[in-house]
Amino acid sequence: NIIPIKPETLDNRIRFNTIGGLDSHIQCLKEMILLPMMYPEVFKQFHIQPPRGVLFHGPPGTGKTLIARALANECSFGKRKVSFFLRKGADLLSKWIGESEKQLRLLFEQAAEMKPSIIFFDELDGLAPVRSSRQDQVHASIVSTLLALMDGLSDRGEVIVVGATNRIDAIDPALRRPGRFDRELFFPLPSKQEREEILNVHTSLWTNPPSKQLLDYLAENTVGYCGSDLRALCSEAVIQSFRRTYPQVYNSEFRLLLQPENVIVEKVDFMRA
Ligand code: ATP
Repeated sequence: NIIPIKPETLDNRIRFNTIGGLDSHIQCLKEMILLPMMYPEVFKQFHIQPPRGVLFHGPPGTGKTLIARALANECSFGKRKVSFFLRKGADLLSKWIGESEKQLRLLFEQAAEMKPSIIFFDELDGLAPVRSSRQDQVHASIVSTLLALMDGLSDRGEVIVVGATNRIDAIDPALRRPGRFDRELFFPLPSKQEREEILNVHTSLWTNPPSKQLLDYLAENTVGYCGSDLRALCSEAVIQSFRRTYPQVYNSEFRLLLQPENVIVEKVDFMRA
């Protein structure tokens, strides 16, 4: 049940400018993570301690994973590549005692070896839930290992841990103390303006992108949609237009094929055969 410790191959088209809205989040990540990663010596010289961990929380589909991937791409330049390790909370759980802790240690070791690195724990609540007296020992031991690994991070600013969750209250509070996930960013559902920007991101490369008025109308009528809902809306529009277009092409092509000049099937003369 060993999960190979390999960084993710990132799609380098995911950048901050391919994210709709979330401007203040991007600005904050630039200052907290990008600058310390790019200029670690300056931060050391001025004794400024960049955060070890940042916690993203908010409803599903609001761009938490997307922004983390964009961040890794933005921090990579020239030959300097940021290694991006992504783990889903529950995937690290193993039925073998001590195996999850071992995986976590290997992950942190590998990230330090391949620094600068970002370790992204999606669904952190599945890995590090609140430890209660009734809780099984397994989770308690994983949480303590994670705490120890974060406390031991000596490469501040060069190895950064990002956690994401939809249920911030379900995370062990010890992880939210200073020195661990000491910054928290809330990802809300997008506003009208942000919905318009997200729709624009997902349609701007179409051969015939929607007009400003259409985008405005769509944004107005999608209250409560998150970023991934808006992406799904755009994909569905493409699929719908395929459904409408293809049968027409198919029918007209069919008729054309029966024109005498296009006949491709030789008629058999039964009387002679
Ligand atoms: P979960 O909590 O379920 O893991 P999440 O907050 O991590 O969700 P993402 O996985 O980042 O959500 O978003 C899913 C997809 O929705 C993205 O890959 C992207 O295509 C689209 N999306 C979400 N937010 C935005 C945004 N602000 N701009 C552009 N696309 C977005």
